[in-house]
Amino acid sequence: MIAIKGMKFTPSLLIFFLLVLISGCNQNQKTTAETLQLTQLETSPKPTPVKSYTKEAKLVAVGDLLMHMSLTRSGYIPEQKTYNFDGFFTEVKPIISSADWAIANVETTLAGAEMGYSGYPLFNAPPQLVDAAKKAGFNVLTTSNNHSLDKGEKGVINTINNIRFRGVVSTGTARTAKEAAQILMVKKNDINMAILAYTYGTNGIPIPQGKTYLVSLIDEGKIINDIARARKQGADLVTVSLHFGNEYQRQPDAAQKQLVESLIKAGADIILGSHPHVVQPYQVFRVKGKDGKLKTRAVIYSMGNFVGNQNGKYRNLGVIFAVKVRKTFPQKTVEIVQVEALPTAIDKYTLNNKLNFRVLPLSATLSRKEVPFLSPQERLVLKDQLFEMKSHVKSIGEYKTINTVK
Ligand SMILES: [Zn+2]
Repeated sequence: MIAIKGMKFTPSLLIFFLLVLISGCNQNQKTTAETLQLTQLETSPKPTPVKSYTKEAKLVAVGDLLMHMSLTRSGYIPEQKTYNFDGFFTEVKPIISSADWAIANVETTLAGAEMGYSGYPLFNAPPQLVDAAKKAGFNVLTTSNNHSLDKGEKGVINTINNIRFRGVVSTGTARTAKEAAQILMVKKNDINMAILAYTYGTNGIPIPQGKTYLVSLIDEGKIINDIARARKQGADLVTVSLHFGNEYQRQPDAAQKQLVESLIKAGADIILGSHPHVVQPYQVFRVKGKDGKLKTRAVIYSMGNFVGNQNGKYRNLGVIFAVKVRKTFPQKTVEIVQVEALPTAIDKYTLNNKLNFRVLPLSATLSRKEVPFLSPQERLVLKDQLFEMKSHVKSIGEYKTINTVK
């Protein structure tokens, strides 16, 4: 104001103006401060409401991909001197590919042709198995089982390389100590799932000295620690794959039940059992926390054989274990909202004098009028198997409530 052109100021007038200006400034500052305070008072008790919304994602898991030589031979294409196993999964593809996380246990090494393909007791199958699994929708493979070391350290490393080369993630074995310490996290629909995998042992094949990182072994304390680490790293859900239990036993033993309950109390959300080569039941745990609220946890003790060629009752049967989860935003709470076990059967059929294998989802298959290579007699057998399996998968008691401090 003082610098306005063409105006003359006497000293007294100037002082007057200055006084007005100073008091005006003060007045102005005060008003601004009051306004700010008022604004804060108005907004702080009532934060802008964020609309609550939910997102869902589904996990499916299957048991062992047990690659006997008959299965390896079934995928051989002599004209191209290569392998293709897509036919194993054609019938289950709609179910597997509809899931967000689709997990299978690779119970063989994929060590490469240079190490020679072999079946029981030291498995090495063509890595094209991964191509077929990927095409069917599987996106996570667990590699810790009693056959992990069938082709030694090189077998472990080659198996991981062959899986990762095809853009599929794996867990349960590792090439280095650093890799073994990393927790696999797979995010789908903004839901972050940690996937951990362990085996009871390696069929008596010793883990090379100083290289315990190669195969992840069941060690209750370590698993509990890994679950806590996974939570710290931002896991909304922790899924634990356990290769355990007694072969050919259709019910879990005391050791399996003890371990499962301990891991549930430690914060595992989903537990996927494999190894017995037959299906053991699933169970939905209602875990009561300190806050008194019930949280749901899903466990299947054994998912049976998904592919394989074992003789003996129930050994051709498996399940697709399906768990639907929901995350609520902005609270970021996650809950299990649906648990299902869909029975499957390994079906053999002959085409052009060649034995073929495929996995049939029993309910879906029996609901179809015509299924190629399935005779009316075979259909009747599958019908009986489905009926029996539907009650078997729940035979341990579908729900169990436990208390936990977590
Ligand atoms: Zn096994």
